[in-house]
Amino acid sequence: MGKEVDIGKVVRQHLEMEQFFAGFAPKGQRAAHEPHGRQAAMTMQDNAAELEKITQEVRQCCKCGLGSSRTNAVPGEGHPNARIMFVGEAPGADEDAQGRPFVGRAGQLLDKIIEACGLKREDVFIGNVLKCRPPENRDPRAEEIIACLPYLQSQIEIIQPEIIVALGAHAARTLLNTTQSIGQLRGCFHEYYPGIGRPSIKLMATYHTAYLLRNYSQENRRRVWEDMKKVLTELGLPVPNPSVK
Ligand code: SF4
Ligand code: URA
Repeated sequence: MGKEVDIGKVVRQHLEMEQFFAGFAPKGQRAAHEPHGRQAAMTMQDNAAELEKITQEVRQCCKCGLGSSRTNAVPGEGHPNARIMFVGEAPGADEDAQGRPFVGRAGQLLDKIIEACGLKREDVFIGNVLKCRPPENRDPRAEEIIACLPYLQSQIEIIQPEIIVALGAHAARTLLNTTQSIGQLRGCFHEYYPGIGRPSIKLMATYHTAYLLRNYSQENRRRVWEDMKKVLTELGLPVPNPSVK
């Protein structure tokens, strides 16, 4: 006869394994074990505290050259448990002056889009790939993205949004690790991979609101609205019928 199985030992090992791997488990997982009541409130407070740590780090950061030319770093802001996370390219002049994301003209258009979705700015999280403004709003450089991306990756890991909306080619290409154009990328869901062992997150790429302002055609507005309708439908949220189309 084989040795009898020590159930207690198996359970202990299992629990130890679980604890060991818990460090790698995604936080605030939704699905069946969606936290309720007090637990949910704790998760929100914990997330807010963790996000605040990143905010403080970013405000002190000098990991790339942009740290010395900025007025204010722009870490990002929004709901600690947001279901949707908007990711732009980098702060512009208004954002650099205020230390807040999407507060200039492109930001006002983003606000309109969020409202058209039946949401409020406080319901979502708004961030950028780069946290400091490139001089003259030039394109982000590879070394700047490499230095700064860990902050955004940590924010995504804490918030665990159900959908990331990448605004414009730079955000979409960075998060999807591709060189495809925004025209090719927009309009359908892609997967963002946060790292080994972590579940992928759906990503919708759409036009940047600054691009939309420069090319404010009915066709481009319709495309962005089509993309956002897909996001709302995927989240099971009602799709309003706005006049912004
Ligand atoms: Fe640091 Fe990012 Fe600012 Fe560069 S852009 S200094 S990496 S926060
Ligand atoms: N454009 C961006 O990409 N991000 C901002 O925060 C503002 C404008």
